Amino acid sequence: MLFNQKRAKKDKNRRKMTREETEAFYNSPRWRRKQKAILRRDHYQCQLCKRYGRISEASIVHHKLELAEYPELAMDDDNLVSVCRKCHNKLHDEKGAKAQQKRRYKHEDRYSGERIS
Ligand SMILES: [Zn+2]
Ligand SMILES: [Zn+2]
Repeated sequence: MLFNQKRAKKDKNRRKMTREETEAFYNSPRWRRKQKAILRRDHYQCQLCKRYGRISEASIVHHKLELAEYPELAMDDDNLVSVCRKCHNKLHDEKGAKAQQKRRYKHEDRYSGERIS
């Protein structure tokens, strides 16, 4: 909901979550449960593809407002959206941070169960 996003944006000086904290979050049972609930809510369809009239299977639950910056929205349904891998990559590329492109997104790896060998 917009209300949450506005409220979150106001408060800019909070401390960010550390890498360890976000990893712990993505490993937590409550996040796994939440992911499943969100995918079910979105009918396992990528919500971005859907906007363009395409149907793709969603495998990733993405935080619209980044987890590290907005930990209070970590479990907020309105901040979570099911997306496919392609759209997910795009979402993170759009932010443009080169450092971000290099690391892999934990929430992506966790759910899909795909392993890089
Ligand atoms: Zn998509
Ligand atoms: Zn994401």
